Amino acid sequence: MYNYKNDFPLLANSTVAYLDNAATAQRPQCVIDAEDNFYRTCNANPMRGLYPLSIAATDAYEDAREAVRAFLNAKSTSEIIFTRNTTEGLNLIAYSYGLTQVHAGDEVLVSIMEHHSNLLPWQMVCRQTGATLRFIECRPDGSVDLDEIAAQITDKTKIVAMTQVSNVLGRENPIRAVADLAHAKGAVMVVDGAQSTPHKAVDVQALGADFLAFSGHKIFGPMGIGALYGRKELLKKMPPFLSGGEMIESVTREGAVFAELPHKFEAGTVNAAGAVGLHAAINYLQKIGYEEMERRETALVARALAGMKEMPYVHVLGSELAEEHTGIVAFAVDGVHPHDISEILAADDIAVRAGHHCAQPLLKHLGYNSTVRASFAFYNTEEEVDRLLASVSTLRERMG
Ligand code: PLP
Repeated sequence: MYNYKNDFPLLANSTVAYLDNAATAQRPQCVIDAEDNFYRTCNANPMRGLYPLSIAATDAYEDAREAVRAFLNAKSTSEIIFTRNTTEGLNLIAYSYGLTQVHAGDEVLVSIMEHHSNLLPWQMVCRQTGATLRFIECRPDGSVDLDEIAAQITDKTKIVAMTQVSNVLGRENPIRAVADLAHAKGAVMVVDGAQSTPHKAVDVQALGADFLAFSGHKIFGPMGIGALYGRKELLKKMPPFLSGGEMIESVTREGAVFAELPHKFEAGTVNAAGAVGLHAAINYLQKIGYEEMERRETALVARALAGMKEMPYVHVLGSELAEEHTGIVAFAVDGVHPHDISEILAADDIAVRAGHHCAQPLLKHLGYNSTVRASFAFYNTEEEVDRLLASVSTLRERMG
């Protein structure tokens, strides 16, 4: 069987069991090469010059945009805006759409399981507009009640913002059904795709998403590049988020005519090398195939869950089914603080995340302050799961 770690220089040359993929994934050589090649062969400021190098840079950047369009099955490249990451994409929606379309008396609905990046921007919108922020609750297994959600979405609701996959529970939300409920009341559906895009095919049209943001670094691409999908009719009526160079048609002393979509939302020199790296990551991911990735990740999660079930002092958050974890296993161990756990695991050459995972309201809702999170990618192995389980089983003795 092919060892996928050989595609990843950091993993091929290391003994670490890297189980923090939900925070950031590793980069395959082809992504590193693509970014390197951009700087070696076509580095110039895209969109600005009329000489061959700048044209090559522009072409590479726009090719990447087309790759993202196809990746998300958006209708048009004008609906794809390059950002730094998911956080920036969500803030763009909040500042540009939220602050102009939400008014006092309106409501914004978010789920309790949102990453802070899909919560704080909406808290800001509600604070500044006088709207009310409401929460969709979840059950301990991470599931939500569609009847309850239907009752919560009213004519007052202007925005429903929900993550497709929770970064703590790994549970996938029924986005299409929620989007249908939102649309029936005239609200827009904002989807956080940060934890879905690394694991499953995401089709913005099939999901009924009006906006969807994701990060390149979580799908094996470079840090500092991400993308936001926005439905064209909405993007057209939104003001720019940032202004300055690159995003204008013409400027006078008094004002400016903004550039067409998507450039209206891409102020300043863009991260073209990052976009090229993201393009390579999308190609790589599609070469492996989500089916193969999901099969491998689910088997790893199943092994981890089965092992942890044998340890009564270990408590896994979320569903008992591996299929409902999307590669993520958050857990707590009786009597041992998550930070101590992650330090002991680090001593055993295992990298996991400990803390609140930027989802403090969810943890509080579930009765925790912090947990440990092991998150798997397709390149992880059964041997690594066994190492994790062996270390977890000795934690309490080692803490004395
Ligand atoms: N949303 C979710 C569900 C996440 O898991 C993360 C990162 O962990 C983010 C948003 C923020 O991503 P980024 O830091 O790349 O902006």
